[in-house]
Amino acid sequence: MSDTEELRKLLDERGVRWWDASPGKTKWHSTVLNGTVAMSEWNGRAILDTGYEYVTPAQAVEATLGRGECEIEYVKDWMGWHCKSCDTLWQGLQDQPPKYCKECGRLVVS
Ligand SMILES: [Zn+2]
Repeated sequence: MSDTEELRKLLDERGVRWWDASPGKTKWHSTVLNGTVAMSEWNGRAILDTGYEYVTPAQAVEATLGRGECEIEYVKDWMGWHCKSCDTLWQGLQDQPPKYCKECGRLVVS
């Protein structure tokens, strides 16, 4: 799997919308930097366009979508989930807890 394919898989897992900017270039919205970022492949390795040097797709996701883990709780009145790390509510089914926070991208641990 290429770095671009791996990155897109990680973004898909987090429910982050991405798009093709040019061949081998992936763009998405960074909640950390509050703007659009892009990752390109150069000689088979990934470069973020924010000034980072070579990074792995996992590092690119951490740098742009936040790192670490978060706890979420189901909010009945809202019929959705509350992330305790970024204090965001989003709607979703109680019996299908998300793997990642839809807003900050952290891994859900509860
Ligand atoms: Zn969150």
